Amino acid sequence: MTDSKPAKAPDRMASLASLCKRRGFIFPSSEIYGGINACWDYGPLGVALKNNLKRLWWQSMTQWRDDIEGLDAAILMHPKVWEASGHVENFTDPLVDCKTCKGRFREDQLETSRCPNKPSKSPKACGGELMPARMFNLMFKTHMGPVEETGSVCYLRPETAQGIYVNFLNVMAPSRQKIPFGIAQIGKAFRNEISPGNFIFRSREFEQMEMQFFVKPGTDEEWFARWRAARMAWHKALGLNAAKLQFHDQTGKELAHYAKAATDIHFEFPFGWQEVEGIHNRTDFDLKRHMQFSGKDLSVFEEATKERYVPYIIETSVGADRLTLTALVNAYAEEEVKPGDVRTVLKFHPAIAPIQAAVLPLVNRDGMPELAREVVQGLKREFRVFFDDGGAIGRRYRRMDEAGTPFCLTVDGDSLKDRTVTLRERDSMAQSRVPIDALAEALRSRSAFEPPAV
Ligand code: ATP
Repeated sequence: MTDSKPAKAPDRMASLASLCKRRGFIFPSSEIYGGINACWDYGPLGVALKNNLKRLWWQSMTQWRDDIEGLDAAILMHPKVWEASGHVENFTDPLVDCKTCKGRFREDQLETSRCPNKPSKSPKACGGELMPARMFNLMFKTHMGPVEETGSVCYLRPETAQGIYVNFLNVMAPSRQKIPFGIAQIGKAFRNEISPGNFIFRSREFEQMEMQFFVKPGTDEEWFARWRAARMAWHKALGLNAAKLQFHDQTGKELAHYAKAATDIHFEFPFGWQEVEGIHNRTDFDLKRHMQFSGKDLSVFEEATKERYVPYIIETSVGADRLTLTALVNAYAEEEVKPGDVRTVLKFHPAIAPIQAAVLPLVNRDGMPELAREVVQGLKREFRVFFDDGGAIGRRYRRMDEAGTPFCLTVDGDSLKDRTVTLRERDSMAQSRVPIDALAEALRSRSAFEPPAV
């Protein structure tokens, strides 16, 4: 697909959302019924992209290190968990109603929110009458069992972390880990956000990738610094533009009630600098609260020093959907290939691209489709490969640019004679001849994801 001009910066989110719909990355949930606010469905390319991000995170945490174990805890937990964690009491945002337009806004986001009646203005600046703020709990409440009574109330978890804390000793004993060690988990979380939006940036149902690292008190500041640096390096290894990443160290009132220190990793989205990941020094707050509310001892005994203590926790928490959006925004480009010819391209790191290589027979005859199918067979156990024989080769390249496919392998007349194919690189559009037998190594060496060690 070609256009005549690249989109201007403010339209980039709209262009990206439209590309995501058109190419099958992301759609509004229940779209045939008009959609449901702040819930999204991932299509074939979207789920592949998100799964690739989750897989790299999971491997980085639980496979390439030997001091982190995996866990998959239930979404529904004992309601006391949320009393102990402080969520029943504190997981609130200040909600402001507008008497004029009936809009609802988060008080701390009034400046960046838009009036539904006058979208060029923020609430109040539009002349609307705002009511005093009231605190609103973000947890979704439901009932366990057939009777809807107070005693049966339970919550959809608003974070995955608590499932890790309550299982801390269950994991530590069988895995024979010793402090310091971590537990990683990927799973759904739910928040009844007052003002969701910016496409999938803030939704009401989302996935988190959280890792809780248990350390000896006194070593927490050092571990916090190490994880802070390691997580930033990980995002850079993923190909996120270093100029669009920065730390935001929280101070004073920004700090959550449990945190001794907290740093957010911010990315510059078209709608401003926003959090992608949080790194928190949660002290011994969580384990001590669960000890108090459950009556169970969650302290550990250190054989070497004969000391007993409650570990401190360093948390790293990143949203899988938010990281998917970050990867999409980071990759999205509209490039003028020649005057009047603009290509839309998603420049994903090859390790996360939904399709790593497209195999394209130049024409649909003379044995080219058959050889192309053979190339697909040879690669598909290790790589995500896609066969496309529809339309002119230039149009097929552009379709793959829009899907973010880093390599196109074209089978032509020469391929039949010398068993080589043309390897076209998405970003530079450079082409080279590669023997079919050397393709796997060519793709492997160009797709490596290598995060630095902590
Ligand atoms: P905010 O202050 O923006 O509401 P938060 O500081 O409460 O966010 P955390 O509780 O630290 O966020 O959540 C950890 C991570 O989970 C965030 O960095 C983000 O990537 C992701 N996340 C949190 N809320 C949402 C949401 N509503 N939609 C998508 N991702 C989310």
